[in-house]
Amino acid sequence: MSLEGKVALVTGAGRGIGEGIATALAQAGASVAVADIDIAISQQTSDRLKRSGWDSLALQVDVTDKKSVSKMIADVEQHYGKVDIAVNNAGIVSLYPIGDLAPEEWDKVLAVNAKGVFLCTQAEITSMRKQGYGRIINISSIAGKSGFPELSHYSASKFAVIGFTNAVAKEVATEGITVNALCPGIVGTGMWRGETGLSARWALEGETEEASWQRHQKTFLPQGVAQTPEDMGQLAVYLASAPHVTGQAIAVDGGFSI
Ligand code: NAD
Repeated sequence: MSLEGKVALVTGAGRGIGEGIATALAQAGASVAVADIDIAISQQTSDRLKRSGWDSLALQVDVTDKKSVSKMIADVEQHYGKVDIAVNNAGIVSLYPIGDLAPEEWDKVLAVNAKGVFLCTQAEITSMRKQGYGRIINISSIAGKSGFPELSHYSASKFAVIGFTNAVAKEVATEGITVNALCPGIVGTGMWRGETGLSARWALEGETEEASWQRHQKTFLPQGVAQTPEDMGQLAVYLASAPHVTGQAIAVDGGFSI
């Protein structure tokens, strides 16, 4: 599955799953534009790809802002002449029981996870239509296939990504553009690990963050082990290559959604 000669764009690629996907796409031969709200970490990922001998460009973007998204696409087009593959990965999470969920928190999470995917996909399709070719991969979640307590707003945003992906895939199906969703299971990025991650927030009384992390892997996942950013990268490379897979929401979750 060579992506030689292709140009890829990955949002939220300064760290975590986005960084893993950017690396896999670069390893498969694509030139990769690495975009993140934090330009310092975009630059770090991009520099790391270049040190491995791959072609990369670092960009700053706020996916909730239409002007910023338009500028990101214009920058990729100016530098590389086109956008072939786009992975809309930037996302945030927070935990609130439904009674405590403020409308502002709902708006904040939906703005990045759902509106961000909409704004990026819209701008990417406009660019891809010029060449009649494109591969769009929107990052949803296992929380986009079933709900989790304290994550109602996050689940709503990730269900939205799947519905949106399905609808847009049908709309552009005859234009050489595929649109799919990738649903990670449990990946030990900043979203799960550290003081503010889900492991710490969901730790039982007296349980360490590490013990909570181990327990969640064992209780949530039939395989009993977490997935990695590299696992997500493998599916992204496949979806970036496959011409006749579209509108799907594919989980890489160690059997969680069986
Ligand atoms: P992460 O927090 O490590 O990385 C997210 C990246 O998105 C960060 O680099 C951050 O700076 C960037 N970002 C945040 N807001 C942004 C904005 N407005 N514009 C541009 N960039 C922005 O998280 P991760 O675990 O790597 O998550 C990546 C994606 O995978 C998210 O969409 C997340 O919901 C999804 N996901 C993660 C898991 C998991 O277990 N980690 C599971 C399911 C789905």
